[in-house]
Amino acid sequence: MTAQISKQTLTVGDVTARPGELAQGFIQAGELAGGTPLRIPVIVINGLRPGPCVWVNGAIHGDEPEGPLTCHLLRREVDPAQLSGSLVLVPVLNVPAYEAAQRGNPLDTFSYDMNRIYPGKPDGYFSDRLAHAHMQQMVAVADYEISIHSGGSHSYLSETIFATQDAASQELARAMGQDWPLVLKAILPKGNPMSVMLEHGKTGITVELGGRSATGPGDLLRVARVLANGALNVMRHYGMLPGEATTASPRYTGHQIALLAPVSGLFLAEPDVKFQQPMRKGDLIARIYDVFGDLRAELTAPEDGQFFGLRALSNVTVGDWCCFYAVIEGELE
Ligand SMILES: [Zn+2]
Repeated sequence: MTAQISKQTLTVGDVTARPGELAQGFIQAGELAGGTPLRIPVIVINGLRPGPCVWVNGAIHGDEPEGPLTCHLLRREVDPAQLSGSLVLVPVLNVPAYEAAQRGNPLDTFSYDMNRIYPGKPDGYFSDRLAHAHMQQMVAVADYEISIHSGGSHSYLSETIFATQDAASQELARAMGQDWPLVLKAILPKGNPMSVMLEHGKTGITVELGGRSATGPGDLLRVARVLANGALNVMRHYGMLPGEATTASPRYTGHQIALLAPVSGLFLAEPDVKFQQPMRKGDLIARIYDVFGDLRAELTAPEDGQFFGLRALSNVTVGDWCCFYAVIEGELE
């Protein structure tokens, strides 16, 4: 018996890939005042055989280079001749924000955070139009979507998935494999690529890994390796690539609490605290000192659980984000 060969070309934006081909180019989204075209880079890997379409989004927040590097690894490692179905990579979604190395597009103060405005609008603010152009292409072809995030310029986040409670989203979260034991509840997601996928009857998850304190020699590559391994495991799980998919064991579910700075000063994490290790309510996570070195506040675990995000930019202003804490509700199969 010979394997079925796909006859389907795949087009995203300006890019068309025939079965067995990798092609790259852009989704066009207008131009800037100086005439510079605004366009979203896209890589289309169309497998030789038919199957589902996995779509990976990076850098919807421009200060998060982990998604772009993950897409670079996947572009090198996924061979269209071995692939059943297709893989679409968007290394840099919010291009102006990435160019400015900021969370949002500095040219657009009205819809600065692109991860809050989906599905966008064809006649909206700058970022609304970018989101809309991307959304249309994505929902037309994608079956499974993975949004890659990190702690960006102010923090570090350890391996964490946000997923809704439906069976398809939980399956996709599980398919990220052995490095991804924490799956937190995305309650009524709204305004991001994951929520748009769900509204179109498709499946999407948001994954978090990396940030400011993990960009030294070897660190960013390690983070991107773990993210790329997750995406490869997803493709194995759905039969798109040969090989056995892995599963994390044990896996936990729960919900997050954001801890904000009660005072301004210098944020110093306790030297022996560790990401995703069990803590008891009241355990010390970090201290904040004033300019003279006097202790002004302590950050403690709000419940029994574990933290998965911690501030990595030590200068802190009252109300600044300091910690993402996970309250564990139980184990997953
Ligand atoms: Zn982000």
